[in-house]
Amino acid sequence: MMNFDFTQEQEMLRQTVRKFVDKEILPHMKEWDERGYFDPNILKRLAELDLMGVCIPEQYGGMGMDYNSLAIVCEELERGDTAFRTAVSVHIGLNSLTLLQWGTEEQKQKYLVPQAKGEKIGAFGLTEPNAGSDVAAISTTAVRDGDDYILNGQKTWISLCDIADHFIVFAYTDKSKKHRGISAFIVERTMPGFSSRAIKGKLGIRAGNTGELFFDNVRVPKENLLGEEGEGFKIAMSALDNGRFTVAAGACGLIMACLEASVKYCHERKTFGKEIGRHQLVQQMIANMEAGLQMSRLLVYKAGFLKNKGRRNTRETSLAKWMACDFANKAADDAVQIHGAYGYSNEYPVERYLRNSKAPVIYEGTREIHTIMQAEYVLGYRQDKPLRNMLPAWEEK
Ligand SMILES: Cc1cc2nc3c(=O)[nH]c(=O)nc-3n(C[C@H](O)[C@H](O)[C@H](O)COP(=O)(O)OP(=O)(O)OC[C@H]3O[C@@H](n4cnc5c(N)ncnc54)[C@H](O)[C@@H]3O)c2cc1C
Repeated sequence: MMNFDFTQEQEMLRQTVRKFVDKEILPHMKEWDERGYFDPNILKRLAELDLMGVCIPEQYGGMGMDYNSLAIVCEELERGDTAFRTAVSVHIGLNSLTLLQWGTEEQKQKYLVPQAKGEKIGAFGLTEPNAGSDVAAISTTAVRDGDDYILNGQKTWISLCDIADHFIVFAYTDKSKKHRGISAFIVERTMPGFSSRAIKGKLGIRAGNTGELFFDNVRVPKENLLGEEGEGFKIAMSALDNGRFTVAAGACGLIMACLEASVKYCHERKTFGKEIGRHQLVQQMIANMEAGLQMSRLLVYKAGFLKNKGRRNTRETSLAKWMACDFANKAADDAVQIHGAYGYSNEYPVERYLRNSKAPVIYEGTREIHTIMQAEYVLGYRQDKPLRNMLPAWEEK
């Protein structure tokens, strides 16, 4: 039985996030983006609204809502700015849900519970200067020493690098085993030998914090190994199934923002004696945005449906992420086009949308990686098995 209705609780959640974005994010975005300023108070406010653990079970400090509720939060936040959706993507999608899936009870109590309450912030360190799409090319190492592991290496392009308290970090415990020799660790910012540095001069997500992590003989207790030694690659891929879902949902929010701005401008601006919205070639761009939004949402909510059932969803999530981010990138390009020269200035928000729309086409699997994945599924070169520790099904509400 298919059901396209949201629950009353989900509708209220959307209204809550929308009001918050309208009141506390949008009025500041031009300035924050210009200054390249990430406001950490936004995360505190999201915590007060119980959103930092929206889909984490109540027993671990969260709100206990389902995956499509997480999608709603991401959509509405990215309608404000991609920076804040990205923060939720790494905190909940890549970190907290990964702890929920792979963590021991002690790890959940120590790290997940404060993260779900928003008292601590989580992030995800996989990418390195010489390893992005090719995860097995990482060179960070973790060497066992008594009851600890000693981490050495460097990560780059890590969201919330200067903000997060806890990071899930991937390192080789046995390089000879290739990707089966990667392990995952929970690293705290306060551990001696850890440092971070923001990257300046980004094209977009300027109001976000992105940068490098350095590990100089960081001693991590063995209790902070996530999963088993050698399970890091599998853990990273399962984390990406959740992260990509949040990115896809956020892209729908960016399309909504493009539509809002463009529809308003279509009614305001007149050429050749009529509103530009009356010109068919402008209508074509508006129609494409609407089609992109509706198709992306269907893919996102379908992936959410599978996640709620605890079913493997790598294929569906990859498709949703690929399509939604491409549609959002195109919608932002068209939104600038509709605004003509004004769209080229930060007097209007659409140039920020265009700059922000690019990173999601690169992170959490580039457009090319998702294209290859989809082709391989169809050609039968790639098949998914159910994962160990699949999250339990959410209760139908
Ligand atoms: C704003 C931002 C935030 C980020 N946040 C995080 C984070 O929090 N944590 C984290 O770990 N990482 C993060 N990243 C990094 C991101 O995940 C990587 O940039 C991404 O995985 C791509 O890797 P790369 O940049 O090294 O590109 P590469 O892998 O070097 O790819 C370069 C180009 O080659 C193409 N390519 C590569 N392999 C193939 C292939 N087999 N076939 C066809 N084409 C191919 C790619 O599609 C791309 O066009 C972030 C990036 C950005 C921009």
